[in-house]
Amino acid sequence: MDGFFVFLPLLPLMMQVFKFGGASVKDAASVKNVSSIIKRFKGSKIIVVVSAMGKITNKLESLVNAYFYKEGDVEAILNEVKSFHLDLCKELFADPNTAVFNELENVFVELLWALEEEPSFPYNHHYDQIVSQGEILSTLIVSAYLNSVGVNCKWLDARGLIQTDNSYRDGRVDFDLSESLVKSNLLPQFKNHDLVLTQGFIGGTSENFTTTLGREGSDYTAALLAYFGVAEKVVIWKDVPGVLNADPKYFKNTKKLDEIGYHDAIELTYYGASVIHPKTIKPLQNKNIPLYVKSFIKPEEPGTVIQQGDKRNPVTSYIFKDDQILLSIMPKDFSFIVEDNLSAIFSLFSKFSVRVNMMQNSAISFSVCTDNDVHKITPLLNELQSQFKVLYNSGVQLMTIRNYDQDIIASLSENKVILMEQRSRNTFQMVIKDNV
Ligand code: ASP
Repeated sequence: MDGFFVFLPLLPLMMQVFKFGGASVKDAASVKNVSSIIKRFKGSKIIVVVSAMGKITNKLESLVNAYFYKEGDVEAILNEVKSFHLDLCKELFADPNTAVFNELENVFVELLWALEEEPSFPYNHHYDQIVSQGEILSTLIVSAYLNSVGVNCKWLDARGLIQTDNSYRDGRVDFDLSESLVKSNLLPQFKNHDLVLTQGFIGGTSENFTTTLGREGSDYTAALLAYFGVAEKVVIWKDVPGVLNADPKYFKNTKKLDEIGYHDAIELTYYGASVIHPKTIKPLQNKNIPLYVKSFIKPEEPGTVIQQGDKRNPVTSYIFKDDQILLSIMPKDFSFIVEDNLSAIFSLFSKFSVRVNMMQNSAISFSVCTDNDVHKITPLLNELQSQFKVLYNSGVQLMTIRNYDQDIIASLSENKVILMEQRSRNTFQMVIKDNV
């Protein structure tokens, strides 16, 4: 018989994405723990996304400030970052000739060269070139360790996968280009490797500069890679048993939420629940990919699953944001706050990348609660004050309570002054300060 063809449908690659944050790779023992978790999934295809180790991103932020604003000793901070990584490597690799030592040395040489030049770009540009190195260093180490214990792992540079515009510190992802890069450069690696390991948080521009996706952005990277590669699931490994109804920093008796719908999860992260980066859920929801939040300390436990579901989770959740500033903005001539004032105010917030956490307007003033980041708030205030009268209260806290009742509000606001409040059917928000 001639001309007989059988068309087999192309089977999707069964693959999952794991994300390990800073706390999961904070020292040599933690790196070994990551490797033992990965070994539990022998035979599976996994994209592993890793953040900078421990609190290294904060250290690198102080390095940028020392370099750009001359707020500190560049060399001393750089040496601290260097010894942290080298000491950790010495615990993982007995042989000082292991290639990773050289690879780290090259990163530090390049960093030093960059830091010896006077700053020639805006702050955010330098921030991204420097702070991103935390992820490069951590992935070089974790990948070398995995290979040394027999895991067949390919290291890839995320800057060649996640393409963004040049909005430094808040790179906007080019979905089409990144998807085609993931399909052509990442997925084929699974022919010869079980694991592909790359950096969270960082991306690249068309001019080959590095961008970052916002603090805690590695979750978003994991979601993007899952979306582009159509993963079966994403697992974010954390030092908590799953998504909790409150931050254990503020509450002793927290409850784990076993299952949350995408919609609830988007709202929780939007209001500031720090367990997942706010941009993470949407790409997963679009392709119906479940997200698990699990403990890297007890990996056998089920954690929380975030997936399609129409039931709202009825558990009361508490989201607290400290170190907020409440701005009250008024036209200088005491005229009404009208649309053109609002549009001028919003364009200034957008110009300085200041995110509005809560807002309210009255006849003659517009109030906004936002994170008190001096480097953004000071220039914003300067420009606002040239057009408006601005009053502000710093050191205030923003509390968001989902599924609230009156007793909860009364107990949380005891001995506090409520400066601004807002409620919808399910969500109550208040900006408060201590009653002193
Ligand atoms: N290392 C970055 C940070 O600490 C990104 C991340 O961990 O997700 O914000």
